[in-house]
Amino acid sequence: MRGGGADVGVKDTHQAAYRIMIHKEQIKDDPELLALINSNRVTRWIGEKRHIIAYPVSNNTIYNLSTTQPDSHFASATNATYTTKGSKPAMMDVFSDFCPMVQRLLDYVPEGEVCEWKLRVHDPLPTWVLDSVALVGDACHPTLPHLAQGAAQAIEDGAVLGVVLSKLPDTTPQSINKALRVYERVRKSRAEALVDMATASGRALHLGEGAAKEERDKQFAALRAGKGPVPDKWADADVQREIYGFDCAKVAADDFDEYFQKIRILLPLLKPRGRFPILALNTI
Ligand SMILES: Cc1cc2nc3c(=O)[nH]c(=O)nc-3n(C[C@H](O)[C@H](O)[C@H](O)COP(=O)(O)OP(=O)(O)OC[C@H]3O[C@@H](n4cnc5c(N)ncnc54)[C@H](O)[C@@H]3O)c2cc1C
Repeated sequence: MRGGGADVGVKDTHQAAYRIMIHKEQIKDDPELLALINSNRVTRWIGEKRHIIAYPVSNNTIYNLSTTQPDSHFASATNATYTTKGSKPAMMDVFSDFCPMVQRLLDYVPEGEVCEWKLRVHDPLPTWVLDSVALVGDACHPTLPHLAQGAAQAIEDGAVLGVVLSKLPDTTPQSINKALRVYERVRKSRAEALVDMATASGRALHLGEGAAKEERDKQFAALRAGKGPVPDKWADADVQREIYGFDCAKVAADDFDEYFQKIRILLPLLKPRGRFPILALNTI
């Protein structure tokens, strides 16, 4: 895409994330942690500028934790590295003021297996499609983990690609390009809206001290009493409807013919690579 003229900005969130998986066998002697892994509940622990989200996966055999904290371990990196092997004492220190149950969970992470991700936000690309090539997943819509939608949106990409390619009238480069642009038409605005929502949710979850935090905490308190907006967007019923109530494959199948007919080939395909205004490719 860069060869086609797309070169977009990257914003630093100054946050990083640990990803942790605890196997049931490891916690078999801890009834409180066993209750967590045996439940069907998502738990979020929120502290100052940090949070942990955790839930059972793999048929309640693994307890999955994803954390977010200030990226102090990346601050001195000399390049744009996006993962690092962290030290366990440093990880324990980051969450040392969290509750004892969290301390016990983190303590199950084997020394040498602490992996930390740097979290960045990419501006939207002008297009995901160039000739007969389309981007999918994090390559075109990297998403902060706060809505649990990064991989989910990559799977929606795959589902829509499957639909549009199955509807190709022929396999000429022109038809393939048009079908890929139908894919982009169905997917781009939805994926980018969820990227923005995950970024906004991250801001609400990682407040320091101050008025904004007090307002957020009031909203959480009101929620416990059964009223008000949800500061944690992942737990908001409207957001959940938007995320889980959308059938991307059906939309692609229903709209394919209309979009496919409308898309015009604006540029000669398979021309030598160089800088040209790929925005025009996106025009329907
Ligand atoms: C802390 C954290 C928690 C997350 N939690 C969730 C969650 O709960 N739910 C969710 O849906 N998503 C979550 N995500 C996001 C999810 O992990 C990503 O969105 C997803 O992995 C993207 O998949 P992908 O296939 O697009 O990219 P990747 O998973 O990055 O796969 C790309 C692959 O291509 C390989 N590769 C790169 N360059 C080359 C090359 N030149 N040649 C060959 N291979 C190459 C890479 O090694 C990699 O294996 C989370 C992310 C983070 C960081």
